[in-house]
Amino acid sequence: MNEDKKPFASSPPDGAGRPADAPRLVDTHCHLEASGFDADRQDVIERARAAGVGHMITVGTDIESSEAALRLAHAYPFIYAAVGLHPHEAKDFDENVFKRLLALAADEKTVAIGETGLDYHYMHSPREAQIHAFRMQAEIARQTGLPIIVHTRDAGDEALKILGAGPVKGVLHCFSGDARMAGDAMAMGLYISIAGPVTFRKTDELRRVAAEIPDDYLLVETDAPYLAPEPFRGKRNEPAYLAETAKVIAGLRGITPEDLARVTSLNASRLFGVGEAPGEGRFTYRIRDSLYLNLTNRCTNRCSFCVRFYSDFVKGHKLRLTREPAAGELIEEIAEPDRYREIVFCGYGEPLMRLDVVKEVAAWVKACGGKVRINTNGQGSLINGRNILPELKGLADSLSISLDAQDEETYNGLCKPASPGAFPALLDFIRESVKYVPEVRVTVVETGGVDVEACRSLAMSLGVRDFRARKLDAVG
Ligand code: SF4
Repeated sequence: MNEDKKPFASSPPDGAGRPADAPRLVDTHCHLEASGFDADRQDVIERARAAGVGHMITVGTDIESSEAALRLAHAYPFIYAAVGLHPHEAKDFDENVFKRLLALAADEKTVAIGETGLDYHYMHSPREAQIHAFRMQAEIARQTGLPIIVHTRDAGDEALKILGAGPVKGVLHCFSGDARMAGDAMAMGLYISIAGPVTFRKTDELRRVAAEIPDDYLLVETDAPYLAPEPFRGKRNEPAYLAETAKVIAGLRGITPEDLARVTSLNASRLFGVGEAPGEGRFTYRIRDSLYLNLTNRCTNRCSFCVRFYSDFVKGHKLRLTREPAAGELIEEIAEPDRYREIVFCGYGEPLMRLDVVKEVAAWVKACGGKVRINTNGQGSLINGRNILPELKGLADSLSISLDAQDEETYNGLCKPASPGAFPALLDFIRESVKYVPEVRVTVVETGGVDVEACRSLAMSLGVRDFRARKLDAVG
């Protein structure tokens, strides 16, 4: 189905001088077949590619436009089609439409059913007709195994109820609901797609949703030719403008547009099969302006909230390893430590289980003028059978230590450490760390049973001045 096999790394440099290996966006919802593009469709497509949009899904709203979407998809390896009947056209849904959509769904370039759903705002079709057409298209999605692209306006709860009638995967496109509705949709496994309105003023709730959706559920789209983002608001929208929307969403989430492209393109690959998911797990990976090192997936804890137990990815990077890297391999991949704000030995596994590698790589980074941070569960001395903090003196500029509980009982319940003495050993580690490492931060994850203020007091009593509580779903 996916003819363009190298969307992430092998696209040619774009007009903006973006590096060839920069992650590219997927516009998961546009209407390239719309007549508004008849005069300059080829230019529109070229501008999208030049702006860093690697793939586009062009979405039909009736039989005619679904067929046109498929013709376009067959003309370009990086364009895909969705076939469906928009709720505005639901009055036209009948047995023939059902059969035709089923036939179009079998095309190799069809990656979704839609745009379908419920629109009780405009009511261009009667309510009962909308419900019937939506139910039947959900049925096509179930039969074909394709995801469904859902439009809702003033009908979000009813749409979710219909989707809840049977297993279906999909996305709420051009999301305009609130955080509660987003939560309900994600609880059903649905993705949330954010479009241009997030760039408008006075969209505080949408911005909050766009900032807080967990990485695993976020998609982006233009809905072109409609809803152009700022600074093009009011003009015809086109897929190239996705870069503007992505910039705003990335800012809201405190990441770079490149991070956002990686995260959302991975999700597009997961949901629609568009593009290619990353292959092997990575030893080093960039988030914002720091480089993270993935030394091991082993850990002495089994925290209930650990990302390793529900995803192979952090910020779109695949981190599940088939083998652990040697120090030399890490050094080769880092190459120039001073290109990054800091080099971070991180927590997709406990790095201090490989203390020798940490020391060798950290010493090299320091010798090259780089900055070193180690993210740890604070059991490094317990794991290595000695106080290792003096050995980190001069090698680590900062430590980020997970405290995660205010007392031993809570810690053992939440983190399930392999050793019974883990919590007191962790407290000793924190107490010792401030003697040898210039910056020490203690962190907790806000989850049930954790008393954040008691954790803060405990950290302060151990000599730490920097304390941070992070949200349960905030990883990376
Ligand atoms: S300490 Fe970190 S890596 Fe280990 S299980 Fe807990 S969250 Fe995961």
